[in-house]
Amino acid sequence: MTAHNPATPEYRPQTQLVHGGTLRSGFGETSEALYLTSGFIYDSAEQAEARFKGDDDGFIYSRYSNPTVRMFEERMMLLEGAEDARATASGMAAVTTAMLCQVKAGDHVIAAKALFGACLYVVNTLLPNLGVECTLVDGRDLEAWKAARRPNTKVFFLESPTNPTLELVDITAVAEIAHECGARLVIDNVFATPILQRPLQLGADVVVYSATKHIDGQGRVLGGIILSDAQIIGEHVHDFLRQTGPSISPFNAWVLLKGLETLSLRVRQHCDNAKSLADFLATRPQVKRSIYPYRPDHPQYELAKKQMSAGSTMVAIELDGGKQEAFSVCNALKLIKISNNLGDAKTIITHPTTTTHYRIGEEARQELGITPGVLRISVGLEDVEDLKDDLGQALKSY
Ligand SMILES: *Cc1c(COP(=O)(O)O)cnc(C)c1O
Repeated sequence: MTAHNPATPEYRPQTQLVHGGTLRSGFGETSEALYLTSGFIYDSAEQAEARFKGDDDGFIYSRYSNPTVRMFEERMMLLEGAEDARATASGMAAVTTAMLCQVKAGDHVIAAKALFGACLYVVNTLLPNLGVECTLVDGRDLEAWKAARRPNTKVFFLESPTNPTLELVDITAVAEIAHECGARLVIDNVFATPILQRPLQLGADVVVYSATKHIDGQGRVLGGIILSDAQIIGEHVHDFLRQTGPSISPFNAWVLLKGLETLSLRVRQHCDNAKSLADFLATRPQVKRSIYPYRPDHPQYELAKKQMSAGSTMVAIELDGGKQEAFSVCNALKLIKISNNLGDAKTIITHPTTTTHYRIGEEARQELGITPGVLRISVGLEDVEDLKDDLGQALKSY
């Protein structure tokens, strides 16, 4: 019943976000259909045989692929300019797959130190347990990336901007350093979103997302995606996912497809609100530092302008105070919610020292500049004046 509406790369990104990858059934529905099915029926035993042999490209089983999931993948490919993609159950399933499918015992990876907590576990605990050595470097220090290379280095991994202190890594420069030694560069692009930064165009080989964040954008479902060229997806990612099964639910893929239609509108508004809020916070006497990549006082402002089209949806502040003052501000907020998610329509505040970065320990936090006075704000879609009022009154609480 399904007619494939072929990918339409000639359209601009905003048009892709609305139409890209649609597989319309014989009923001619306007909205993308939700194919909530685990299996698929074959017309004949011969057709079943042909599907399994790969001579017929229809669907087989939803652990492998599903029409709703494929629509989500194709729309993301068109947006990102990737040859192929595979969606996963969560962002961490995407990161874990992207790393594990490219290495074997005896290989070496290099990763930036400033990583999402669970990503740090994957590169620094899980991979070494499996016989893959990992070197952590300061992602901003290009000489450190170069010096860490070994003949068996297979993968470089980084996030930019970093969580929660919004430091940047020069993606083009690190990609060159990786390619010189025959390694591939994997980027976790969650903080930048596909709207602000295009890692594949900057030289990266693989880009991964937690779609749970801005791609859903309303804090409803978990999901992830890996995008790359046809060879890396075909030779490494495809079999790993099929045989290990961290598949996304078609329902979640459908929610994410709906999220994509408004992604660029939302991200632009998030960024406008974030910049305005960062500028406001910089004027408050209780705030020692207002950290935002598109503020001229950000140490990597020039790099931010070079590789990102806006300064991110996140703001970090360092208070003139410690844990007690940070808790006082959080507890005095009336509109802004205390949570650890990000990329939501609702503004969310996080105290990294006691939550998302609690487990990495004091020494690692110090190295990353995560002091007890740091608060991370995922700026939502409310009227920014209400956000300023709320933070303004909360800052006066101590
Ligand atoms: C949230 C997040 C992840 C993990 O994504 P899940 O969907 O929660 O599994 C990975 N990297 C970054 C930068 C994130 O913010």
